[in-house]
Amino acid sequence: MSNYSSLDVISSLCKRRGFIFHSSEIYGGIPGFWDYGPLGCEMKRNIKEDWWKTIVRNREDVEGLDATIIMHPNIWKASGHLDTFSDPMTMCKSCQKLMRSDQIWDMFADSDAGQTLQKLLDESNGEVGKLFAWCKGRAKGQTPNLPAVQEPAVLTVAYEKLLENPAAYSDLKSLYTLFANAGRADGSEICPCPHCGGELTEPRPFNLMFKTVVGPIDNEKNVAYLRPETAQAIFAQFLNVLATSRQSVPFGIAQIGKSFRNEVTPRNYTFRSREFEQMELEYFIRPDEAVELISGKVLTLADNPDLTTPDPAWGWEVWHRYWVEQRKIWLTACGLPPGSFVESVHASDELAHYARACVDIEYSFPFGIQELEGIAARSDFDLTQHQKHSGKCMEVFDEPLKLAAKEMDDQARTRFMEKVVAEWLAHNKDEGDARAFVAKLFEGRYIPHVIEPSAGVDRMMLALLCNAYEEQKLVDEKGKEDTRVVMHLNPRIAPIKVAVFPLLKNKPELFNRAREIFEHLRRRYAAFWDHSGAIGRRYRRQDEVGTPWCVTVDFDTLENGTVTVRDRDTMEQQRMTLDELKAMMDEALLV
Ligand code: ATP
Repeated sequence: MSNYSSLDVISSLCKRRGFIFHSSEIYGGIPGFWDYGPLGCEMKRNIKEDWWKTIVRNREDVEGLDATIIMHPNIWKASGHLDTFSDPMTMCKSCQKLMRSDQIWDMFADSDAGQTLQKLLDESNGEVGKLFAWCKGRAKGQTPNLPAVQEPAVLTVAYEKLLENPAAYSDLKSLYTLFANAGRADGSEICPCPHCGGELTEPRPFNLMFKTVVGPIDNEKNVAYLRPETAQAIFAQFLNVLATSRQSVPFGIAQIGKSFRNEVTPRNYTFRSREFEQMELEYFIRPDEAVELISGKVLTLADNPDLTTPDPAWGWEVWHRYWVEQRKIWLTACGLPPGSFVESVHASDELAHYARACVDIEYSFPFGIQELEGIAARSDFDLTQHQKHSGKCMEVFDEPLKLAAKEMDDQARTRFMEKVVAEWLAHNKDEGDARAFVAKLFEGRYIPHVIEPSAGVDRMMLALLCNAYEEQKLVDEKGKEDTRVVMHLNPRIAPIKVAVFPLLKNKPELFNRAREIFEHLRRRYAAFWDHSGAIGRRYRRQDEVGTPWCVTVDFDTLENGTVTVRDRDTMEQQRMTLDELKAMMDEALLV
């Protein structure tokens, strides 16, 4: 559906129509922070409510939570964020710009210099003259600190190498690296700055958490952090929710809220912001060994289980896949066509040491295919860490497990114990830990494992905006060409559900009846009133912000109570009563 040409088209529509503004714009803005305007905040709210309804209200096995942004700093020690939540950062010795060292080549590809060089490479056909000319010409403005631009001797060596073996420098990275390093006497290599060509420092870890101070005294003891994810609050409140909700494993706790990351280089509009919102679910499951004791087996994906209905015999692998599928169903229901996102499965060497699997769902944004949300199987790592650091026992008591263990005779117990010990040893885990774990299982106790679907509200909104945008070329009855900008937002997500127009604004009986209908509809739906301009223009204004239905009140309305309902996508008009309109809208808006 979408035919946007670039992120600029989307961002300018968002600014013009009140979806998204730069934060603090009157002071020049602040990088990585965005404000949602009148339509943006409605749309964002719809995304969050849709997620909440799907994950919490429509399920019996998930509870909600709304925790504070600033929490006890030990939470971040326990979770590992204090020690390891960092990105590799580097600085340019010439222009002093800071950047993430794992994004250098993406940044260079996006830069003017990168795009010029790429074009020259594409057109060069093995001819290196123009590449050489670039260093002597445009590069002086684009990357003035690149050694090949500054030192003729470097350029000469680079040219010789290019002539000798052009194939070795046929991609952007190797070519730019050559222009930075050719002829270096000591053979060492520098990484050139994507902005100016200067030398970058060695990457150093940079912690992404925002620091603040709690209370009036500004010292180390009072340091606290703005949460970099909502998930940890769920683990920290696990015992309270369990005690008050009458849930038992398997069950989940969900939270929507602000998170903060001091991203080194916020980029791509709202995609990577420093303040953003997350929608996270921690779904607690039995360890596979407990499943085996209770059900006598552990279903894996190899068993081809029916993923629509949870089964007590599901192991973690099936639960993980179940949540990936659930998330895909939701993304599609919100309006992202299945073909617009892909699954990216983390290879085992990309996983954190405690994680068993992670699938990212990636969307094809105008700037490339990038993560929309992630679904991770995190074992019992988080609750175990909080047990260690807080001293509070995070184990649950599982009655069916206790009963199952009670029915086993001594021989069966010993067999089970030895089997688990052998499996743990095969995974380089400690034998003593394995024995203690199984002994607890026989008492009906364990620390739950967790599956974590973690989504970003802002990224979801950006994906939906990009997907919805269309410029349609239309020809009217007189043969006149026109362009209609239409946002095909799913009605569930659209900021305005219905717009109401009187056909003519200077006929009091029409105007008043239209007002009555508007007042009636707005009590139930986000509605918009517009009485100015020709009807066609009023429709177009609504098309551009994705309003699915426009209702026109005309003389027939006064006679028989029907209104004209115009559909945004087909532009077709239908007469119907208000009850029929409401029934149609309710059906489309039902989550
Ligand atoms: P990335 O690799 O893109 O930095 P991540 O893997 O660090 O993302 P998670 O920690 O898994 O992200 O966070 C879960 C979700 O939160 C992401 O899938 C994304 O939708 C959202 N998110 C994370 N960081 C940001 C950010 N800086 N701006 C907007 N949304 C974000």
